[in-house]
Amino acid sequence: MALLQTQNLNKHFGGLHVTADVSFSLEPGRIHCLIGPNGAGKSTFFRLLLGEHQPSSGTILFDGQDITRLKPFQRINCGMSVKFQVPGIFGALSARQNLQIALQHRLGPGDAEEEVERLLSFLQLEDVADQQAGNLSHGLKQWLEIGMAISLKPKLLLLDEPTAGMSPEETFMTGEIVRQLNAEGMTVLAVEHDMAFVRQVADRVSVLHFGRIFAEGTIDEIVADERVAAIYLGQNHD
Ligand code: ADP
Ligand code: MG
Repeated sequence: MALLQTQNLNKHFGGLHVTADVSFSLEPGRIHCLIGPNGAGKSTFFRLLLGEHQPSSGTILFDGQDITRLKPFQRINCGMSVKFQVPGIFGALSARQNLQIALQHRLGPGDAEEEVERLLSFLQLEDVADQQAGNLSHGLKQWLEIGMAISLKPKLLLLDEPTAGMSPEETFMTGEIVRQLNAEGMTVLAVEHDMAFVRQVADRVSVLHFGRIFAEGTIDEIVADERVAAIYLGQNHD
């Protein structure tokens, strides 16, 4: 059974049809990447999944449950978590304190301490753990954000452009973090434009174009698809 399934999902903003009849299925245990040109509707699709937008029509099933009408916090309780392009960390607190806050919701004080240290080590943040999160480099902030997003041990982790603004080395490290999380059992859906990252992590790739699923397959199938190449012509990649 699919962990996540959308059925004929539509979203209109006024006259704009931003999500167009999207029927999408994500098997548990997968790393699935969503690509597509700027403005294709990738972030909107994520916001629909999270309940930050209500669809104009269609349904969203998660873990066997119809979540279409659930509020964002209810979806998080069902096992969904997200790291957005926009930061959600407390800049005035240290990296360690940020993780402590995130983890206290799920674990008691003793267990939370242990898990904080495990996450700091996993994300290679040990050396900067007591620095103000707002002063960390862009890459380190992104990993801290991933730490916040996984603190609830979600079944599904949504990542919207996790490597935006990263160096190739940081991008690679992010891919390794994602692969490790997946090896531990987490299903991942990532919007991404860096094709090296997609190749590093993705089991499957979907291409969104004008709000529709335009193509779907392995990375090799997608890269070889001339119709996909054509939609990127004359556009900045995204
Ligand atoms: P992507 O993430 O693929 O770049 P988005 O989902 O952010 O694309 O946007 C898709 C289209 O929907 C764009 O044309 C954008 O201007 C429009 N859009 C996104 N959010 C809103 C909104 N809240 N109100 C009106 N139009 C929106
Ligand atoms: Mg976007």
